[in-house]
Amino acid sequence: MAPPHTYRNRLILYVVLLELFLICVLYYFYGQSRDAILDAANRNLGLFSSQLDAKIKLEEHELEQSARLISDNIQLREYMFVVVSIGTETDPLHELFQRQFGWLKYKSAAIISKNGDVLIGDDKQLLSAISKKPNIEKLDGEILYYSTDKSIEMAVSMPVYYQNEYLGYVVLTNTMDASLIDTARDTGYGQFFVVGNGKILRSSLEEDLTGQKFKQRNGLLRLIQGDFLVSKISYFEENKLPQVWFGFSNPELTSQLDRNRSQMLILAIGVSVIILVIGIAMIRNFSQPVGRLVSIMNDVGDGQFPKIEATQSRDEFGYLINKFQDMIARLKEKQDEVDRVHAQLEEQATTDSLTGLYNRRYLYDLYPKLLSDATRQGKSITFILADLDKFKIINDKYGHMVGDQVLTHVSDIIRDCCRASDFVFRVGGEEFLVLMTGDLSGGKILAEKIRNKIEQSPLRTGDLLLLISSSFGVAQLQPMDGDARLSDTLARADKALYRAKEYGRNRVIAMDINNNDDDQKNNQWQIPQLNHQQAGRGSGTTQNGPRYFRLPL
Ligand code: GH3
Ligand code: MG
Ligand code: MG
Repeated sequence: MAPPHTYRNRLILYVVLLELFLICVLYYFYGQSRDAILDAANRNLGLFSSQLDAKIKLEEHELEQSARLISDNIQLREYMFVVVSIGTETDPLHELFQRQFGWLKYKSAAIISKNGDVLIGDDKQLLSAISKKPNIEKLDGEILYYSTDKSIEMAVSMPVYYQNEYLGYVVLTNTMDASLIDTARDTGYGQFFVVGNGKILRSSLEEDLTGQKFKQRNGLLRLIQGDFLVSKISYFEENKLPQVWFGFSNPELTSQLDRNRSQMLILAIGVSVIILVIGIAMIRNFSQPVGRLVSIMNDVGDGQFPKIEATQSRDEFGYLINKFQDMIARLKEKQDEVDRVHAQLEEQATTDSLTGLYNRRYLYDLYPKLLSDATRQGKSITFILADLDKFKIINDKYGHMVGDQVLTHVSDIIRDCCRASDFVFRVGGEEFLVLMTGDLSGGKILAEKIRNKIEQSPLRTGDLLLLISSSFGVAQLQPMDGDARLSDTLARADKALYRAKEYGRNRVIAMDINNNDDDQKNNQWQIPQLNHQQAGRGSGTTQNGPRYFRLPL
């Protein structure tokens, strides 16, 4: 099963979500930033125009006060009375006016008699504007605005009375828009546009815009010189005069916006890179050791004991990996012990403890494999069943200990005679089975070789020399013939062995598939012969049993 990547995927998801969130925030503020800047500009416009309104109002008030001061001046009134009723020169009036009112703040002044004669003043446009007003004597302190081709003028008219006689009126003026325009130029903050009949009359811009169309839409004025965000100064609107607009250059605002946006973008990219780096570091820091632990676990799960290099890192993963290392080392020790015990048990289960040969149980385990190999290779297997002759007598005469020595001795001989590819089993008390690859004749040859070797190898134990013989039944397993059952071949070998015993022992009888043996019925049992070196003093034999010799001590 592939190892899970849940936490790594979660971490990736968190980082992606964080980045998405950042993009959303950026997108929001990016969109907002334009509105925010325009809002701020509009707010400033509104603030500025209301400040200007207030300034104009103040100027109106000051102008009115000045005019009142002049019209209330008794000396001027007396003098005017003289000038108007008697018809004196007006020049001294000028002098008087200059002396008494020169300090007042106004642009131009005029004193006009009730007949319309100009007693003081030379501002033609003012005079023509004033003269157009009917009943001007009744405009007590009211502010008039009029426009010249250069500016918007503010005027105040104040009647002059002497002993309840109306003598004429005083008019003071101030230029409004020009001072505003100067203000704008001085501060360098925003622009003024004076507009009449849809055309620009004047502006605070360096270029002469006179005559250009003034067409604003939603507060945005488009000129050849660029776009302006404009707001009308409401005061002038009320007075039905040329309008005065105040505005900011839109490109300036836009460049400010762009600056803001690029700062925001740099910040966002920076933060996003930081998040990404932290995320990748976290993923690497987290998923790499987890991946390592998982692969260790997988190996351990597969029964391996991976070599883990100890890590120097002191974090949780380092701790875990080092603990794993200890655990695997201990596990390996245990597993080695289990394997050793298991091998021991298996050996015990498959071998005979006395002789070290395979036991009968192993014969049944091995047989199917042996059969399938032989079938595949088209070879036959031959069974050689051996049984010691008159073994019981040895046991009875010399005891089981000696009997066991004989069994070990014989099993060594059989093993020595066989090839590595043959299998030797102890299938009964003193019965042995050899399974060899080859046919019946080969089996007979090997059986004869073993038989001869046993006969020629007496066992020397203590002062005894025991001559041993054995009988052999040989049968061939023929898997090519079809159903080759173990028990059938064993039975045939057993039958052959029985015949060998029957025919006189110490011989080899082979049994073919048709249960025909090689007839040796008439052969007498050959008692094993000793050569002269082996023979010693005192010897004996049991009836039809093995012979023994007492060895010289
Ligand atoms: P035969 O020639 O007919 O085979 O005669 P035999 O005496 O060998 O016949 P039998 O099969 O009756 O005797 C087998 C004897 O083997 C009986 C038993 O005492 C002995 N025996 C069986 N297993 C062991 C063993 O593990 N150790 C010893 N010492 N003797 C064993
Ligand atoms: Mg026996
Ligand atoms: Mg026997």
